[in-house]
Amino acid sequence: MYDVHSKHAEDFINHQEILDTLAYADENCHNTALMEALIQKAALRKGLSHREASLLLACQDPQLNEKIFRLAQQIKKDFYGNRIVLFAPLYLSNYCVNGCTYCPYHLKNKTIRRKKLTQEEIRREVIALQDMGHKRLALEAGEDPVHNTMDYYLESIETIYSIRHKNGAIRRANINIAATTTDNYRLLKEAGIGTYILFQETYHKESYLKLHPAGPKHDYDYHTEAMDRAMEGGVDDVGIGVLFGLDKYRYEFAGLLMHAEHLEAAFGVGPHTISVPRLRDADDIDSSSFKNGIDDATFEKIVACIRISVPYTGMIVSTRESKDVRQRVLQLGISQISGGSKTSVGGYYQPETDEDNSKQFDINDDRTLDEVVHWLMEMDYIPSFCTACYREGRTGDRFMSLCKSGQIQNCCHPNALMTLQEYLMDYASPSTRALGEAIIDREVANVPNLKARSVVLENLRLIRDNNRR
Ligand code: SAM
Repeated sequence: MYDVHSKHAEDFINHQEILDTLAYADENCHNTALMEALIQKAALRKGLSHREASLLLACQDPQLNEKIFRLAQQIKKDFYGNRIVLFAPLYLSNYCVNGCTYCPYHLKNKTIRRKKLTQEEIRREVIALQDMGHKRLALEAGEDPVHNTMDYYLESIETIYSIRHKNGAIRRANINIAATTTDNYRLLKEAGIGTYILFQETYHKESYLKLHPAGPKHDYDYHTEAMDRAMEGGVDDVGIGVLFGLDKYRYEFAGLLMHAEHLEAAFGVGPHTISVPRLRDADDIDSSSFKNGIDDATFEKIVACIRISVPYTGMIVSTRESKDVRQRVLQLGISQISGGSKTSVGGYYQPETDEDNSKQFDINDDRTLDEVVHWLMEMDYIPSFCTACYREGRTGDRFMSLCKSGQIQNCCHPNALMTLQEYLMDYASPSTRALGEAIIDREVANVPNLKARSVVLENLRLIRDNNRR
């Protein structure tokens, strides 16, 4: 039975409730008055339920869809301003004992080269990432209890945070590793991780069991209840997502929002981020053999509908998407993107060759971080390397309450400008630096509070004089 508060996967991601939701959306998707009313409700910026959001996702009326897109753009601006947070994935190990049919890390793949970084190799990767200007990482690994132990992760996190190189230091290491125990989540929290990220892949249990035929990941309930254990272990920022292309997108969308509603109901705080990865070709994986792929227009509609349904949840898009698609979804709701990414193990220090293939999937945006930063600023975004909330302990519900009350604007904007100035001084090409400084000078005027503005101006002057506090 559907129960948002229950800690059992079958209750909070209730199959019948999703089917009923889809039937409700089908029945009402020509009811213009109802959809107008829902768009007005979403405009109050308090979010929508999974049923309401699923109805808007099913809407085919071009005029109403236009209203949904415009509202998503407005909510994006109101909650996140023009800041875009940047990060990079760091692949620690591609050893994996699972049998995921869409992922080249699966145990039976003998063509991919298996690698696990040593602590020294992690140092080299992190220094290469710091030399690009990154401050925020997403650690990635396959699931292998022998090679990729919790001790290995904890040691790796310690190594990553300890590396000081020129002006570089990783300030936030998020981690995307297999579902684990409450005790292990507690250890990850103590080690100082930022967000614990785990994609559901698909919320459709029957499909899930077929797509994950072997290995510990086969256990749908254990996987689906992972975020509950993470929160019980003290991890207050969790990042959810589905891999679009595995099952029907409307089913996944309803499941994703039900998951968010469950976390909010059970723990008082919803997911910190929602990721929207789409299936890609990879070593021995042909994405066209999966029949539920979605086109760009549908992808954009999903992003817009998530944005208006959970306005205070960050949204992430990776280099799985092309420059053009990224450009469109940034407007519609995405608040974090990766840049300069390599999906191979050890690929930042030593770019991979065709013969030495360890990468997870083909990327669609292979520009450097400097090019991504330049491109963002050309579109009037402020690339942000800011991690101040994390350093000041404003994670989880404290961050959410700031965000929900709109307060985040008062501290994020100045922090973003200062960290961008640091980036421009330390890592940017001359043309990126010139463009960035012009944007910063213009944007300082948009810091609303006069006292805050003068503090920012003083800090910017110190950074530009190479005299940092
Ligand atoms: N091992 C971890 C787990 O079990 O959840 C996840 C780490 S994996 C490096 C990160 C994510 O990559 C997976 O959760 C999956 O959604 C995504 N992924 C796997 N194969 C992919 C493909 N062919 N195209 C795009 N994304 C893929």
